[in-house]
Amino acid sequence: MSIDRIAVIGGGTMGNGIAHVAAQHGKSVRLLDVSQEVLDAAVETIGKNLDRQVAKGILDEQARLDVLARVETSTDVSSGVADVDLVVEAVPERAELKYQVFGTLDEATRPDAILASNTSSISITEIAARTKHPERVIGMHFMNPVPVMELVEVIRGLATSDETTSATVEFAKELGKTPVEVNDFPGFVSNRVLMPMINEAVMALMEGVASVEAIDTVMKLGMKHPMGPLELADLIGLDTCLNILELLHRELGDDRYRPSPLLRKYVAAGWHGRKSGRGFYTYD
Ligand code: NAD
Repeated sequence: MSIDRIAVIGGGTMGNGIAHVAAQHGKSVRLLDVSQEVLDAAVETIGKNLDRQVAKGILDEQARLDVLARVETSTDVSSGVADVDLVVEAVPERAELKYQVFGTLDEATRPDAILASNTSSISITEIAARTKHPERVIGMHFMNPVPVMELVEVIRGLATSDETTSATVEFAKELGKTPVEVNDFPGFVSNRVLMPMINEAVMALMEGVASVEAIDTVMKLGMKHPMGPLELADLIGLDTCLNILELLHRELGDDRYRPSPLLRKYVAAGWHGRKSGRGFYTYD
């Protein structure tokens, strides 16, 4: 199945990055959001990121204009998805909201369209179970920032068909990404492995093993990680880290995923990392 025309639902951090990359690789993109302000800001962000690519010599001016011309925006989600080959949903990480959006997509898309979710942690199998055609539902977990990061975790729900999986893998490759297929388990691979490491770093800090800077330096210089775990947690958002750890703890029922009390305390204080100006580090 050839995928030429796509819709992206949600024009926030991830949605505008996905729209940018798809349009850069020749796809017609309809970016849909409930807020016109978000859509305007998304197009502005895509424009700025394209300017940066032009300045670095990755794209020329004509290519920049072509990419922008391939991105259309609308606040009418139902009619915006009617003629597309594939939808990537990137609305906030709330299960009930995702179920509602997939209910709409189930009714409003062509029956052969692929419905992908960019969820970081919500079960693809459960999202798919809310639709009449669970075989066409799949996870496409892009990494932030989308134009820069190479990986797409492709998550098969229990009912996802081989056709849906192979078309999605092919589509990810067409976007210049490296897709990796994983099965639908809490946290998939990325967050199941990353979040316990971040949590352990917070535990080490809480127990006074070392300072914030020392913990991050050990992991950067000793393990060749490009960022320390505490710096990375600040980038992801401490509230997001806590939500994912709570999900792993609840769904897998193992105390090794128990969120650190210090992480809970920071989130309760509103210290959510970079986006709030303070987390393990302080930001201007
Ligand atoms: P965000 O809050 O930046 O953007 C979400 C957008 O969805 C908002 O613009 C909002 O207006 C819009 N929206 C809300 N309800 C909608 C609806 N019913 N229809 C259409 N649009 C609607 O969120 P984000 O950080 O881009 O995250 C989106 C998804 O990507 C989440 O599932 C998240 O877990 C996942 N994800 C995020 C990151 C990250 O680092 N931010 C990384 C990987 C995956």
